[in-house]
Amino acid sequence: MPGAFDLMDPPDTDGLRACVHCGICLPQCPTYRLLGEEMDSPRGRVYLMRAAAEGRLALTPTFIHHLDLCLGCRACETACPSGVPFGRLLEATRGQIERRGARPLSERLTSALLLSLLPHPRRLALAVGAARLYQRSGLQRLVSAGRLLAPFARLRAMEALLPPSPPGAAAPLPEIVPARGRKRGTVGLLLGCVQRLLFPRVNAETARLLTRAGYDVLIPRDQGCCGALHLHAGQIDEARTLAVRLLTHFGRAVDWVVTNAAGCGSAMREYGHWLGDNRDAEVFSSKVRDVSELLADADLPLQRLDLTVTYHDPCHLAHGQKVRREPRRLLAAIPGVKLVELADSDVCCGSAGVYNLLEPEMADRLLALKLERIAATGAGVLATGNPGCLLQIARGCRERGLAVEVLHPVELLGRALPERARDG
Ligand code: SF4
Ligand code: SF4
Repeated sequence: MPGAFDLMDPPDTDGLRACVHCGICLPQCPTYRLLGEEMDSPRGRVYLMRAAAEGRLALTPTFIHHLDLCLGCRACETACPSGVPFGRLLEATRGQIERRGARPLSERLTSALLLSLLPHPRRLALAVGAARLYQRSGLQRLVSAGRLLAPFARLRAMEALLPPSPPGAAAPLPEIVPARGRKRGTVGLLLGCVQRLLFPRVNAETARLLTRAGYDVLIPRDQGCCGALHLHAGQIDEARTLAVRLLTHFGRAVDWVVTNAAGCGSAMREYGHWLGDNRDAEVFSSKVRDVSELLADADLPLQRLDLTVTYHDPCHLAHGQKVRREPRRLLAAIPGVKLVELADSDVCCGSAGVYNLLEPEMADRLLALKLERIAATGAGVLATGNPGCLLQIARGCRERGLAVEVLHPVELLGRALPERARDG
């Protein structure tokens, strides 16, 4: 019997067969922990994908539902002793679902709306401008007080994520920021679509810290989007187009391609896989580094900050890129900072790209668990290196009245770098 997948980027058969059904991944899977359903576990989802590949199952609404509930957090990859490449299997399967138009129209429209907005900085800037107007006009308070958005869970989720005062338009960073002191190399900095608009200070601090660490920082204009959101949504061809465009902007002139957004870094490290026989893509992917990796051994003249800080591992940094120690080392290196471990720090906060907009109820349940853990640390600051996690956790702290400042690690590091040292 023919399989349910066609020949355009089907999930890899060897990857599917690598699962030996041991179940070691189950306790690490956030959706299994919440729902207790085998088909909402990694093992169950691999079973579904394999059954579809072998023609024992069609791409039914039930099949799609279990795949949609997956966060794509890749915690199962970390746990799996058999090396099942779950992230790639999921992305390929979502690609098949997307191309067949197998979802209800309302879901396709929501997804199309998000993908027509989020990865396009100019359109997103217009939307953020409209959001600023919405907040400053007092309309947001009216809508919240009247619970007008309550019946529309997805709209309400979007509205709730907006920071209380989105930053104003930031001055663009120069195309080249020269290294200070002894030069260690040249990096290209990815600005990120959401990061550059909602967290411009994170990019500014990233550039400043890297120059202080001895790197020339190249910031190509019109660098565009890395394609991560498209990839996670199964729009693989669009992700490829964006990836090729990004590659050409960075060229071969840099030693490292640096990002401060975990989701972008994880996707860029996969270009070599998704672009197939493309040597430039492989070279590019091999140069991708999270900012924490390059700063971890920099000898920066940091000032004292008397703070208790805890750290949340973004899924696409801890599981997608295996970067866990470096952000902790950076934070612990700030004199006066007391770093306290967060229980289940690498369990998803519910953000997961646009999951919190598409599956708001599940995302809220995960956020509630994360907030419990954060409150238990007694920390005044939560640091995390991904814009989606920053928005999601900050939203939770606001709504719950938790007096916790939510910051990117480079923002804390920037605070600890004296002004004179910043400029000189
Ligand atoms: S990616 Fe995350 S949510 Fe999906 S099956 Fe793996 S652990 Fe569970
Ligand atoms: S840990 Fe790996 S091999 Fe074991 S059930 Fe999970 S995916 Fe399959």
